[in-house]
Amino acid sequence: MTDCIFCKIIAGEIPATIVYRDEQATAFRDINPAAPIHILIIPNKHIDSVNMMTVDDEPLIGHLFTTAKALAAQEGIANGGFRLIMNTNADAGQTVFHIHLHLLGGSRMKNPMG
Ligand code: 5GP
Ligand code: ZN
Repeated sequence: MTDCIFCKIIAGEIPATIVYRDEQATAFRDINPAAPIHILIIPNKHIDSVNMMTVDDEPLIGHLFTTAKALAAQEGIANGGFRLIMNTNADAGQTVFHIHLHLLGGSRMKNPMG
């Protein structure tokens, strides 16, 4: 997608603090962190949102979670705890329409559901 900001980060056209990358996924620090550690994990393939994913995408989306698990350990928040969020459309507050998993941690979260 030529006008997608996250596709541009994957392509290196927009700078980001990339913390992990492999053939399927890229992870980078959120530009406006909502927690001491806030990383976005995205598939290298453009998918707008969960509404647009298919059964064929299940291994890819599952890979985002195992990547989040590894990054949580790398960032030292695996034992203390972390939160994974995937927003879909306006009522959930989705602002970037390239599917992404938020990894949040590093402090005690007060509100259980945001
Ligand atoms: P959403 O609200 O769609 O679930 O989350 C989008 C996230 O992307 C937000 O937390 C926002 O701060 C982050 N974001 C938006 N634009 C950029 C950018 O250009 N670079 C980085 N690193 N994060 C971004
Ligand atoms: Zn995209």
